[in-house]
Amino acid sequence: MFISKNLAVNEKGHLTIGGIDTLDLAKKYGTPLYVMDEDLIRENCEKFKKSIDDYYEKNGLVCYASKAFSCKEIYRIMKDEGLGVDVVSLGEMYTAVSAGFASEKIYLHGNNKTIEELKFAVEHKIGRIVVDNLNELELLNCIAKDMRSKVDVLIRVKPGIDAHTHDFIRTGQIDSKFGFAIETGEALSAAKLAVELDNINLVGAHCHIGSQILDVDPFVLAADVMIKFISDVKDATGIEMCELNLGGGFGIKYVDKDDPVDYEEYMKAVSIMIQKKCDQYNLNRPFIVIEPGRSLIAPTGITLYTVGARKEIPNIRTYVSVDGGMTDNPRYALYKSEYDAIVASKASEEKNEIVTIAGKCCESGDLIGENMLLQHAETGDILAVCATGAYNYSMASNYNRNLKPAVVMIKDGKSRVIVNRETLEDLVKNDI
Ligand SMILES: *Cc1c(COP(=O)(O)O)cnc(C)c1O
Repeated sequence: MFISKNLAVNEKGHLTIGGIDTLDLAKKYGTPLYVMDEDLIRENCEKFKKSIDDYYEKNGLVCYASKAFSCKEIYRIMKDEGLGVDVVSLGEMYTAVSAGFASEKIYLHGNNKTIEELKFAVEHKIGRIVVDNLNELELLNCIAKDMRSKVDVLIRVKPGIDAHTHDFIRTGQIDSKFGFAIETGEALSAAKLAVELDNINLVGAHCHIGSQILDVDPFVLAADVMIKFISDVKDATGIEMCELNLGGGFGIKYVDKDDPVDYEEYMKAVSIMIQKKCDQYNLNRPFIVIEPGRSLIAPTGITLYTVGARKEIPNIRTYVSVDGGMTDNPRYALYKSEYDAIVASKASEEKNEIVTIAGKCCESGDLIGENMLLQHAETGDILAVCATGAYNYSMASNYNRNLKPAVVMIKDGKSRVIVNRETLEDLVKNDI
């Protein structure tokens, strides 16, 4: 009945998440509020780990792509689950390290890493640096030399795959700011250079073909291309890279029409391809890394808002405005991403209105969604927007000097704050 499996209705007809009444949560912590479900996060971690155990003989690592949602507590949970994490900035790296995350299980990504980021990574012995371009490769070699260390790197490759997704989140093709293209020979030259540099240890290759991908085929094709690349590098340099990182991008159900594949299907299909290609090229099966972000946490979260103004424009549309908007969820404004929403106190009632849910920012494009089917929402109602666990809090801003909401985590039927609501003092603390 609901988009995410942790949502239900209680005897009062109220929406619950992880068994807790969302109206109670809104009352206790205020709105807007992000709510996440730790039980479901852990269940998802287990599923991904099990897929590697079952189909790839435990020879791999699940890394949580922490740009989806980064705060200290999520790194603690991922550590406890035995996952690695990937980070894309000094801020994420710092948050992970300060939460006590083991640096050897951190992967650093980014298409334009700063000197400061690379120095921090070398100094803190971050497990893998995923090198994106030649400037970075040479810079990293110098930094490592200065610090008398040798760093393990993967090279980021563009496998040239069209992953049938939104242009903005398609990254595997040649015209992308991320990585080295295979077709042009760029990726092979980078690998050759990496092998020559004294303070670089080339251990593997990485690709990430896009996001919210709902088929298995692009991943299988990527595995095919990547094993061939490992073979080409071996032929050219004599070095057989032992690690293959296939990135993330596994899709989830945001709205009814989305039909994601079961997570284990990816590893099953990808493992078969890897084995086949390794046999063909006479290679050892590489250690495999996958980097789910959205799929691990998006379905575990919701955002609770309080409905304010209702504006019915005859024959045009009805706006239902909420006390948040693009500042806590910019994804509709950025990519017209669709969401499902529920009036929390009327969760068991049929949805009988088509509305536009608007935020409170001074931008006409500040919408959570258009043409959304919803129960009749009145001023004062609590509105839940579903599957907001990924790329919401992490993309939040202070536009219009709105305060970032708190994040509440649910576990075993109990709630706790894991990120405090911003205060007005927080807002002005850097102002001179
Ligand atoms: C964003 C990203 C991911 C995670 O993508 P999801 O779609 O959230 O699974 C994984 N790896 C890299 C390198 C990324 O940039």
